[in-house]
Amino acid sequence: MIDYHLHLWAHGPRPLEATLEQIGAYCERARAAGVVEIALTEHLFRFRQADAVLGGWWAEADRPSLAAAMGEWWASEQGADLDQYVEVVLAAKAAGLPVVLGLEVDHYPGRMHQVAELLAGYPFDVLLGSVHWIGAWGFDNLGPSAFAEEWDARRVESVWHTYTTHLEELADSGVCDVLAHPDLCKVTGRRPAVPDEFFHRMAEAAARSGMAAEVSSAGWRKPVGEAYPAPALLRRFRRAGVAVTTASDAHRLADVAEHRGALATLLAEAGYDRLAAYRERRRRAVPIAAVPLTPVPPVTGATVGAGASPPKTGPLPSVVVEGS
Ligand SMILES: [Zn+2]
Ligand SMILES: [Zn+2]
Repeated sequence: MIDYHLHLWAHGPRPLEATLEQIGAYCERARAAGVVEIALTEHLFRFRQADAVLGGWWAEADRPSLAAAMGEWWASEQGADLDQYVEVVLAAKAAGLPVVLGLEVDHYPGRMHQVAELLAGYPFDVLLGSVHWIGAWGFDNLGPSAFAEEWDARRVESVWHTYTTHLEELADSGVCDVLAHPDLCKVTGRRPAVPDEFFHRMAEAAARSGMAAEVSSAGWRKPVGEAYPAPALLRRFRRAGVAVTTASDAHRLADVAEHRGALATLLAEAGYDRLAAYRERRRRAVPIAAVPLTPVPPVTGATVGAGASPPKTGPLPSVVVEGS
């Protein structure tokens, strides 16, 4: 099992500095859960370098009320230094920790070439592609009231259609490697009576772009109460030959590797027997190893931060080398 979607920082204003101690603690908790490799995938929008290139994208994207809410929220997330983040993750790799360097990248309609230029100078192993925004509406961000109330103003089929169109554009841009939480549009639990058409388009987009799809436990922490993707969509991915990763989308140590056993069950039911792992944007297949039955100890002060030593985990065994 791998956990290929991890954040170092919870949302909102806070000190945004990557440390070897925190990465060591994430690796230690992952190892205790039977997770042999993790990807750190901080949100691109948290970094000053992204703000310099992309900041203000929302101004023309939607109605003034939604644009204002997005601008306020974006500002509250700012402050990290991409160079410092990359440097610390590379140092963790060099120290032998089972971690790869990644980012979670949003879809910026019409601006993905700017995103690609910004990222080209960094040695990323894996880039997650996400659709969190429809215009300036942060539809999965239920904190700001302008965002939460927008759900009542739109038809669910229209939301799913526009979300799926953005996902197709993101996949076709070729900028990222893995579709994160592929059916995030179900986050509130509202879904079309017959979602087949949308699932078909999502699976086609992943297949034609060569992207993998993420199987994420994060949906169990959201109102929908279901993993991403839904079992029916995961079966479509499997039929379309789409590779998959597993992920917790943790924003704190306690959620690292969460529900990895339940994810393994979903994968088995859909017929998957291997996962996609990445180095330098190149994909390889790794086995879905057995998950330990022993529960992971709760996070305590003693297990957070300092004192974690590099786990004795070697490189993952490669099963099949696949194209990037
Ligand atoms: Zn996300
Ligand atoms: Zn995330």
